[in-house]
Amino acid sequence: MRWDNLSETPTGDSVLFGTDAVVTRTFDTPEFRGITFHEVRARSILNQVPGASRMPFEWTVNPYRGCTHACVYCFARRTHSYLDLDTGLGFDSQIVVKTNAPELLRKQLASPRWQGAHIAMGTNVDCYQRAEGRYRLMPGILAALRDHANPFSILTKGTLILRDLDLLLQAAQVTDVGISVSVGFTEHELWRTVEPGTPAPERRLAVVRTLTDHGIGCGVLMAPVIPFLGDHPDELRATVRAIAASGATSVTPLVLHLRPGAREWFMAWLNRHHPHLVRRYERLYAEGAYAPKWYQRRITRQVHELADEFGIGPARRGASRRVTPPSDEPRRQPSEPGPTQLTLL
Ligand code: SF4
Repeated sequence: MRWDNLSETPTGDSVLFGTDAVVTRTFDTPEFRGITFHEVRARSILNQVPGASRMPFEWTVNPYRGCTHACVYCFARRTHSYLDLDTGLGFDSQIVVKTNAPELLRKQLASPRWQGAHIAMGTNVDCYQRAEGRYRLMPGILAALRDHANPFSILTKGTLILRDLDLLLQAAQVTDVGISVSVGFTEHELWRTVEPGTPAPERRLAVVRTLTDHGIGCGVLMAPVIPFLGDHPDELRATVRAIAASGATSVTPLVLHLRPGAREWFMAWLNRHHPHLVRRYERLYAEGAYAPKWYQRRITRQVHELADEFGIGPARRGASRRVTPPSDEPRRQPSEPGPTQLTLL
């Protein structure tokens, strides 16, 4: 494994650490059986997104590489190859943990060169994946951001984020905080097979409800909408209805994309579970990683129409703002705009 590698990912995740800094661990608990953790001491934790990137943010923090949520379609799979790790099962079970992420971030935020730019988290892999339950890196990261009043956003599928509710509320009193939860569909059979390590969609939406009840507006990234499996009008309707019922401030649809690394793994899964769809996928994704524009527009229009019907608005891309601090005051009415969030998975 190339542990001394400096890797650039689509989100600009730079990792630089030496061979001597790696400690490998396994834990014999049901939750972590079959998973290997590679603990490293990173040399840098603030990553600048390459200028050519289409991402609506410039800086990211990623305390983990690999993700036990194991979504078959995960676009970050390819980043594991930069470390000579397998992008299939290896991505799901070989997790790199930057154990010094909190102290390093605090140090970098204190640097006179740091200008206090917005920092996006959960943009490469999920910072509230199961490993976070053991390593507890996010509390230190959030505390550093709070203490420096540095604006940030988090995108997650992890219910573990509620463990840090108090820190999020404290941060929201001094800076802009944007939270998004990702729920692409609500159908359980699809969820169990394509996102096998994630909390169920309704548990994720319960996170949205809890955050909203505490005055932290939370948007939903409806991603991915999976062609021919999660795009039936009834499924779109059920999902947008559930998202609206959760109190989400916005819904942003995003159709499945299949970049190298994810594409091979997803197509192998499709061949096992839905072989009759393989040819249709080959046609739909014949031009590359993205479904055709007409298909994307159709899904976006359908979701926006449903969002109107259920009284929830689409997100403004890339924006965030100060969230409502905890208080006993009446909560925001559904018609009022809420904080928005980044839009990536
Ligand atoms: S939760 Fe996000 S980062 Fe983790 S496997 Fe799923 S898509 Fe990838």
